[in-house]
Amino acid sequence: MLDAAEREDLAQAQLRATRPIVSGVLLCGAVLLAVIAVFDLAGVTPTIGYPVWLQLLAAVVVAACAVGVARSAHWQHRLVLVLAGTLLTGVFMSMPLPGITGQLALRTGLFQLLPLALMALTVRPMSLLALALLIVVMAQLRIVLYGAPGTGSALYWLYTLTTIGFGLVLAGYRTDFAVSAWRMRRRLVQQAHTDALTGLLNRSGWSERATAAHAQATAAGRAVAVVVLDIDYFKRINDYHGHDGGDAVLQRLGDLMRARVGADGCAARIGGEEFAVLLDGDDALAAQAFAERLRREFGQAQDGVVATLSAGIAGHLPGESLGDQMRRADQALYEAKREGRDRVHEAGIFRQQL
Ligand code: GH3
Ligand code: MG
Ligand code: MG
Repeated sequence: MLDAAEREDLAQAQLRATRPIVSGVLLCGAVLLAVIAVFDLAGVTPTIGYPVWLQLLAAVVVAACAVGVARSAHWQHRLVLVLAGTLLTGVFMSMPLPGITGQLALRTGLFQLLPLALMALTVRPMSLLALALLIVVMAQLRIVLYGAPGTGSALYWLYTLTTIGFGLVLAGYRTDFAVSAWRMRRRLVQQAHTDALTGLLNRSGWSERATAAHAQATAAGRAVAVVVLDIDYFKRINDYHGHDGGDAVLQRLGDLMRARVGADGCAARIGGEEFAVLLDGDDALAAQAFAERLRREFGQAQDGVVATLSAGIAGHLPGESLGDQMRRADQALYEAKREGRDRVHEAGIFRQQL
Protein backbone atom coordinates (compact mmCIF):
# COMPACT_ATOMS: atom_id res chain seq x y z
CA MET A 1 0.00 0.00 0.00
CA LEU A 2 2.65 2.52 1.05
CA ASP A 3 5.95 2.77 -0.79
CA ALA A 4 9.31 2.81 0.99
CA ALA A 5 9.56 6.62 1.15
CA GLU A 6 6.00 6.91 2.51
CA ARG A 7 6.68 4.24 5.12
CA GLU A 8 9.79 6.07 6.27
CA ASP A 9 7.86 9.36 6.40
CA LEU A 10 5.16 7.65 8.46
CA ALA A 11 7.77 6.08 10.77
CA GLN A 12 9.37 9.48 11.32
CA ALA A 13 5.98 11.04 12.14
CA GLN A 14 5.28 8.27 14.65
CA LEU A 15 8.75 8.58 16.18
CA ARG A 16 8.27 12.32 16.65
CA ALA A 17 4.94 11.66 18.37
CA THR A 18 6.05 8.79 20.61
CA ARG A 19 9.55 9.87 21.61
CA PRO A 20 8.48 12.19 24.47
CA ILE A 21 6.13 9.50 25.81
CA VAL A 22 8.84 6.82 25.67
CA SER A 23 11.04 9.17 27.63
CA GLY A 24 8.15 9.73 30.08
CA VAL A 25 7.66 5.98 30.59
CA LEU A 26 11.35 5.55 31.41
CA LEU A 27 11.06 8.47 33.82
CA CYS A 28 8.15 6.62 35.48
CA GLY A 29 10.54 3.67 35.91
CA ALA A 30 13.02 5.98 37.64
CA VAL A 31 10.29 7.34 39.94
CA LEU A 32 9.14 3.78 40.71
CA LEU A 33 12.70 2.81 41.71
CA ALA A 34 12.95 5.89 43.94
CA VAL A 35 9.58 5.10 45.58
CA ILE A 36 10.65 1.49 46.18
CA ALA A 37 13.88 2.74 47.79
CA VAL A 38 11.86 4.99 50.11
CA PHE A 39 9.48 2.10 50.96
CA ASP A 40 12.55 -0.06 51.70
CA LEU A 41 13.88 2.64 53.99
CA ALA A 42 10.56 2.85 55.80
CA GLY A 43 10.38 -0.95 55.98
CA VAL A 44 6.86 -1.08 54.49
CA THR A 45 7.76 -3.53 51.69
CA PRO A 46 9.99 -6.60 51.77
CA THR A 47 13.47 -5.68 50.56
CA ILE A 48 15.31 -7.50 47.81
CA GLY A 49 18.64 -6.67 49.37
CA TYR A 50 20.04 -3.62 47.59
CA PRO A 51 21.17 -0.73 49.79
CA VAL A 52 18.91 2.30 49.49
CA TRP A 53 21.69 4.53 48.10
CA LEU A 54 22.31 2.03 45.28
CA GLN A 55 18.60 1.94 44.42
CA LEU A 56 18.51 5.73 44.33
CA LEU A 57 21.62 5.75 42.11
CA ALA A 58 19.86 3.30 39.76
CA ALA A 59 16.85 5.65 39.71
CA VAL A 60 19.12 8.56 38.74
CA VAL A 61 20.76 6.53 35.94
CA VAL A 62 17.33 5.48 34.57
CA ALA A 63 16.23 9.14 34.69
CA ALA A 64 19.40 10.03 32.75
CA CYS A 65 18.44 7.41 30.13
CA ALA A 66 15.01 9.07 29.90
CA VAL A 67 16.62 12.46 29.29
CA GLY A 68 18.96 10.89 26.71
CA VAL A 69 15.97 9.42 24.84
CA ALA A 70 14.31 12.83 24.70
CA ARG A 71 17.47 14.46 23.34
CA SER A 72 19.20 11.91 21.13
CA ALA A 73 18.78 12.29 17.38
CA HIS A 74 19.77 8.71 16.44
CA TRP A 75 17.24 5.95 16.91
CA GLN A 76 19.99 3.39 17.58
CA HIS A 77 21.23 5.48 20.51
CA ARG A 78 17.69 5.86 21.79
CA LEU A 79 17.12 2.12 21.55
CA VAL A 80 20.27 1.40 23.58
CA LEU A 81 19.14 3.90 26.24
CA VAL A 82 15.63 2.40 26.37
CA LEU A 83 17.04 -1.13 26.74
CA ALA A 84 19.55 -0.01 29.41
CA GLY A 85 16.87 1.87 31.38
CA THR A 86 14.47 -1.10 31.18
CA LEU A 87 17.15 -3.60 32.22
CA LEU A 88 18.25 -1.48 35.16
CA THR A 89 14.69 -0.96 36.35
CA GLY A 90 14.03 -4.69 35.96
CA VAL A 91 17.11 -5.74 37.89
CA PHE A 92 16.43 -3.39 40.81
CA MET A 93 12.73 -4.19 40.88
CA SER A 94 12.68 -7.91 40.40
CA MET A 95 16.12 -9.50 40.79
CA PRO A 96 17.28 -9.75 44.39
CA LEU A 97 20.80 -9.93 45.70
CA PRO A 98 21.79 -13.61 46.18
CA GLY A 99 20.28 -15.28 49.20
CA ILE A 100 17.40 -12.86 49.56
CA THR A 101 13.84 -13.59 48.54
CA GLY A 102 10.96 -11.21 48.81
CA GLN A 103 7.68 -10.81 47.01
CA LEU A 104 9.54 -11.31 43.78
CA ALA A 105 6.65 -12.57 41.71
CA LEU A 106 4.52 -9.57 42.68
CA ARG A 107 7.30 -7.10 41.97
CA THR A 108 8.00 -8.76 38.64
CA GLY A 109 4.36 -8.35 37.68
CA LEU A 110 4.56 -4.66 38.53
CA PHE A 111 7.77 -4.28 36.53
CA GLN A 112 6.20 -5.81 33.38
CA LEU A 113 4.01 -2.70 33.05
CA LEU A 114 7.09 -0.75 31.99
CA PRO A 115 8.18 -2.90 28.98
CA LEU A 116 4.51 -3.30 28.04
CA ALA A 117 4.06 0.47 27.78
CA LEU A 118 7.37 0.76 25.90
CA MET A 119 6.41 -1.95 23.42
CA ALA A 120 3.07 -0.24 22.78
CA LEU A 121 5.00 2.93 21.87
CA THR A 122 7.77 1.29 19.84
CA VAL A 123 7.69 2.09 16.12
CA ARG A 124 10.49 0.14 14.42
CA PRO A 125 10.17 -3.68 14.19
CA MET A 126 13.84 -3.96 15.16
CA SER A 127 13.20 -2.09 18.43
CA LEU A 128 10.08 -4.17 19.15
CA LEU A 129 12.13 -7.34 18.69
CA ALA A 130 14.93 -6.04 20.92
CA LEU A 131 12.47 -5.17 23.73
CA ALA A 132 10.69 -8.53 23.47
CA LEU A 133 14.05 -10.31 23.55
CA LEU A 134 15.13 -8.33 26.62
CA ILE A 135 12.11 -9.35 28.68
CA VAL A 136 12.43 -13.00 27.60
CA VAL A 137 16.10 -12.97 28.62
CA MET A 138 15.20 -11.37 31.96
CA ALA A 139 12.53 -14.00 32.66
CA GLN A 140 15.00 -16.79 31.92
CA LEU A 141 17.72 -15.09 33.98
CA ARG A 142 15.37 -14.75 36.94
CA ILE A 143 14.62 -18.48 36.87
CA VAL A 144 18.26 -19.52 36.34
CA LEU A 145 19.60 -17.23 39.09
CA TYR A 146 16.86 -17.47 41.70
CA GLY A 147 14.79 -20.51 40.84
CA ALA A 148 11.05 -20.62 40.44
CA PRO A 149 8.80 -18.55 42.69
CA GLY A 150 6.44 -20.33 45.08
CA THR A 151 3.74 -20.39 42.42
CA GLY A 152 6.05 -21.97 39.83
CA SER A 153 8.21 -20.50 37.06
CA ALA A 154 5.25 -20.65 34.68
CA LEU A 155 4.14 -17.39 36.32
CA TYR A 156 7.20 -15.55 34.95
CA TRP A 157 6.52 -16.87 31.46
CA LEU A 158 2.88 -15.90 31.78
CA TYR A 159 3.96 -12.35 32.66
CA THR A 160 6.43 -12.32 29.78
CA LEU A 161 4.02 -13.63 27.16
CA THR A 162 1.23 -11.32 28.35
CA THR A 163 3.59 -8.36 28.12
CA ILE A 164 4.75 -9.25 24.61
CA GLY A 165 1.21 -10.07 23.44
CA PHE A 166 -0.41 -6.92 24.78
CA GLY A 167 2.60 -4.86 23.71
CA LEU A 168 2.27 -6.08 20.11
CA VAL A 169 -1.52 -5.59 20.03
CA LEU A 170 -1.21 -2.03 21.34
CA ALA A 171 1.69 -1.26 18.98
CA GLY A 172 -0.44 -2.51 16.07
CA TYR A 173 -3.39 -0.42 17.18
CA ARG A 174 -1.16 2.62 17.51
CA THR A 175 0.26 2.04 14.03
CA ASP A 176 -3.27 1.77 12.52
CA PHE A 177 -4.18 5.04 14.16
CA ALA A 178 -0.96 6.68 12.94
CA VAL A 179 -1.54 5.45 9.36
CA SER A 180 -5.05 6.94 9.19
CA ALA A 181 -3.91 10.22 10.75
CA TRP A 182 -0.99 10.35 8.31
CA ARG A 183 -3.30 9.67 5.31
CA MET A 184 -5.69 12.38 6.45
CA ARG A 185 -2.85 14.86 6.80
CA ARG A 186 -1.53 13.96 3.35
CA ARG A 187 -4.99 14.46 1.84
CA LEU A 188 -5.35 17.85 3.51
CA VAL A 189 -1.92 18.98 2.32
CA GLN A 190 -2.78 17.79 -1.18
CA GLN A 191 -6.07 19.69 -1.10
CA ALA A 192 -4.38 22.82 0.21
CA HIS A 193 -1.88 22.64 -2.67
CA THR A 194 -4.32 21.88 -5.48
CA ASP A 195 -6.41 24.26 -7.57
CA ALA A 196 -9.96 22.87 -7.49
CA LEU A 197 -10.93 24.06 -10.99
CA THR A 198 -7.98 22.74 -13.02
CA GLY A 199 -6.48 20.11 -10.72
CA LEU A 200 -3.07 21.73 -11.17
CA LEU A 201 -1.00 23.02 -8.25
CA ASN A 202 -2.28 26.28 -6.82
CA ARG A 203 -0.02 29.15 -5.82
CA SER A 204 0.99 27.69 -2.47
CA GLY A 205 1.54 24.24 -4.01
CA TRP A 206 3.67 25.90 -6.67
CA SER A 207 5.73 27.78 -4.07
CA GLU A 208 6.56 24.57 -2.28
CA ARG A 209 7.00 22.14 -5.19
CA ALA A 210 8.74 24.52 -7.59
CA THR A 211 11.11 25.85 -4.93
CA ALA A 212 12.15 22.30 -3.99
CA ALA A 213 12.46 21.15 -7.62
CA HIS A 214 14.41 24.29 -8.56
CA ALA A 215 16.83 23.81 -5.65
CA GLN A 216 17.30 20.14 -6.55
CA ALA A 217 17.95 20.83 -10.21
CA THR A 218 20.41 23.66 -9.60
CA ALA A 219 22.24 21.68 -6.89
CA ALA A 220 22.66 18.80 -9.35
CA GLY A 221 23.85 21.20 -12.06
CA ARG A 222 20.85 20.46 -14.33
CA ALA A 223 19.25 23.07 -16.55
CA VAL A 224 15.88 24.32 -15.33
CA ALA A 225 13.47 26.61 -17.19
CA VAL A 226 10.40 28.55 -16.13
CA VAL A 227 7.41 29.25 -18.38
CA VAL A 228 4.74 31.76 -17.35
CA LEU A 229 1.48 31.73 -19.34
CA ASP A 230 -1.49 34.05 -19.47
CA ILE A 231 -4.69 33.61 -21.49
CA ASP A 232 -5.24 36.49 -23.89
CA TYR A 233 -8.26 38.77 -23.50
CA PHE A 234 -9.78 36.39 -21.03
CA LYS A 235 -12.19 39.02 -19.82
CA ARG A 236 -13.79 39.01 -23.28
CA ILE A 237 -14.12 35.20 -23.18
CA ASN A 238 -16.01 35.58 -19.93
CA ASP A 239 -18.11 38.33 -21.47
CA TYR A 240 -19.03 36.30 -24.59
CA HIS A 241 -19.35 32.82 -23.11
CA GLY A 242 -20.23 33.51 -19.51
CA HIS A 243 -18.23 32.65 -16.42
CA ASP A 244 -18.83 28.92 -16.94
CA GLY A 245 -17.54 29.17 -20.49
CA GLY A 246 -14.45 30.91 -19.10
CA ASP A 247 -14.04 28.17 -16.52
CA ALA A 248 -14.18 25.52 -19.25
CA VAL A 249 -11.34 27.29 -21.08
CA LEU A 250 -9.29 27.34 -17.89
CA GLN A 251 -9.94 23.61 -17.42
CA ARG A 252 -8.95 22.87 -20.99
CA LEU A 253 -5.61 24.61 -20.52
CA GLY A 254 -5.17 22.75 -17.21
CA ASP A 255 -5.77 19.41 -18.96
CA LEU A 256 -3.36 20.27 -21.74
CA MET A 257 -0.65 21.30 -19.30
CA ARG A 258 -1.08 18.18 -17.17
CA ALA A 259 -0.90 15.99 -20.26
CA ARG A 260 2.33 17.67 -21.38
CA VAL A 261 4.02 17.92 -17.99
CA GLY A 262 2.91 14.63 -16.36
CA ALA A 263 1.55 13.90 -12.90
CA ASP A 264 4.92 14.43 -11.21
CA GLY A 265 5.69 17.58 -13.16
CA CYS A 266 5.43 21.06 -11.79
CA ALA A 267 2.54 22.90 -13.45
CA ALA A 268 0.40 25.42 -11.60
CA ARG A 269 -2.42 27.90 -11.87
CA ILE A 270 -0.80 30.78 -10.04
CA GLY A 271 -3.56 33.34 -10.60
CA GLY A 272 -6.98 33.82 -12.24
CA GLU A 273 -5.91 33.00 -15.81
CA GLU A 274 -2.16 32.84 -15.19
CA PHE A 275 -0.23 29.61 -15.19
CA ALA A 276 3.37 28.56 -14.62
CA VAL A 277 5.50 25.51 -15.44
CA LEU A 278 8.90 24.50 -14.14
CA LEU A 279 10.79 22.37 -16.65
CA ASP A 280 13.46 20.35 -14.87
CA GLY A 281 16.36 19.51 -17.19
CA ASP A 282 15.25 21.92 -19.94
CA ASP A 283 17.22 24.90 -21.22
CA ALA A 284 15.60 27.99 -22.74
CA LEU A 285 15.50 26.37 -26.20
CA ALA A 286 13.62 23.28 -25.00
CA ALA A 287 11.29 25.48 -22.96
CA GLN A 288 10.60 27.57 -26.06
CA ALA A 289 9.59 24.42 -27.97
CA PHE A 290 7.40 23.30 -25.05
CA ALA A 291 5.62 26.67 -24.83
CA GLU A 292 5.16 26.94 -28.61
CA ARG A 293 3.56 23.51 -28.76
CA LEU A 294 1.23 24.36 -25.87
CA ARG A 295 0.33 27.68 -27.50
CA ARG A 296 -0.48 25.96 -30.81
CA GLU A 297 -2.55 23.22 -29.21
CA PHE A 298 -4.45 25.61 -26.99
CA GLY A 299 -5.07 27.99 -29.90
CA GLN A 300 -7.20 25.42 -31.72
CA ALA A 301 -10.86 26.33 -31.27
CA GLN A 302 -12.90 23.96 -29.17
CA ASP A 303 -16.67 23.96 -28.76
CA GLY A 304 -16.76 27.18 -30.74
CA VAL A 305 -14.57 29.00 -28.24
CA VAL A 306 -11.39 30.49 -29.59
CA ALA A 307 -8.77 31.35 -27.01
CA THR A 308 -5.08 32.09 -27.28
CA LEU A 309 -2.30 32.46 -24.78
CA SER A 310 0.92 34.37 -24.40
CA ALA A 311 3.97 32.95 -22.68
CA GLY A 312 7.23 34.20 -21.26
CA ILE A 313 10.11 31.80 -20.75
CA ALA A 314 13.35 32.09 -18.84
CA GLY A 315 16.23 29.65 -18.83
CA HIS A 316 18.32 29.47 -15.70
CA LEU A 317 21.24 31.84 -15.17
CA PRO A 318 24.11 30.74 -12.91
CA GLY A 319 23.24 31.34 -9.25
CA GLU A 320 19.77 32.68 -10.07
CA SER A 321 16.93 32.06 -7.59
CA LEU A 322 13.49 30.80 -8.65
CA GLY A 323 12.01 34.20 -7.77
CA ASP A 324 14.44 36.07 -10.03
CA GLN A 325 13.95 33.57 -12.83
CA MET A 326 10.17 33.98 -12.56
CA ARG A 327 10.50 37.76 -12.63
CA ARG A 328 12.42 37.48 -15.93
CA ALA A 329 9.78 35.08 -17.32
CA ASP A 330 7.05 37.54 -16.23
CA GLN A 331 8.87 40.36 -17.97
CA ALA A 332 9.08 38.21 -21.13
CA LEU A 333 5.33 37.52 -20.85
CA TYR A 334 4.72 41.24 -20.65
CA GLU A 335 6.77 41.66 -23.86
CA ALA A 336 4.73 38.92 -25.57
CA LYS A 337 1.52 40.76 -24.63
CA ARG A 338 2.94 44.08 -25.78
CA GLU A 339 4.00 42.66 -29.14
CA GLY A 340 0.42 41.59 -29.87
CA ARG A 341 -0.32 38.43 -27.80
CA ASP A 342 -0.66 34.79 -28.97
CA ARG A 343 3.11 34.33 -28.91
CA VAL A 344 6.05 33.09 -26.84
CA HIS A 345 8.79 35.45 -25.78
CA GLU A 346 12.14 34.46 -24.33
CA ALA A 347 13.62 36.49 -21.51
CA GLY A 348 16.94 38.11 -22.31
CA ILE A 349 19.84 37.88 -19.92
CA PHE A 350 20.12 41.66 -19.79
CA ARG A 351 16.70 41.86 -18.17
CA GLN A 352 18.17 40.73 -14.89
CA GLN A 353 19.69 44.16 -14.46
CA LEU A 354 16.40 45.99 -15.08
P1 GH3 B 1 -4.69 40.11 -21.22
O1 GH3 B 1 -4.67 39.60 -22.62
O2 GH3 B 1 -3.98 41.42 -21.12
O3 GH3 B 1 -4.20 39.11 -20.26
O4 GH3 B 1 -6.21 40.44 -20.90
P2 GH3 B 1 -7.16 39.64 -19.94
O5 GH3 B 1 -8.56 40.09 -20.16
O6 GH3 B 1 -6.92 38.18 -20.10
O7 GH3 B 1 -6.60 40.03 -18.54
P3 GH3 B 1 -7.21 40.66 -17.25
O8 GH3 B 1 -6.19 40.42 -16.16
O9 GH3 B 1 -7.64 42.07 -17.49
O10 GH3 B 1 -8.51 39.80 -16.92
C1 GH3 B 1 -8.46 38.54 -16.37
C2 GH3 B 1 -9.87 38.07 -16.13
O11 GH3 B 1 -9.89 36.73 -15.65
C3 GH3 B 1 -10.60 38.88 -15.08
C4 GH3 B 1 -11.35 37.88 -14.27
O12 GH3 B 1 -12.72 38.16 -14.25
C5 GH3 B 1 -11.12 36.56 -14.95
N1 GH3 B 1 -11.01 35.46 -14.04
C6 GH3 B 1 -10.18 35.32 -13.00
N2 GH3 B 1 -10.36 34.13 -12.39
C7 GH3 B 1 -11.36 33.48 -13.06
C8 GH3 B 1 -12.01 32.22 -12.89
O13 GH3 B 1 -11.71 31.42 -12.01
N3 GH3 B 1 -12.99 31.91 -13.80
C9 GH3 B 1 -13.35 32.76 -14.80
N4 GH3 B 1 -14.31 32.38 -15.64
N5 GH3 B 1 -12.77 33.97 -14.94
C10 GH3 B 1 -11.78 34.33 -14.11
MG1 MG C 1 -5.02 37.43 -19.58
MG1 MG D 1 -3.70 38.03 -16.28
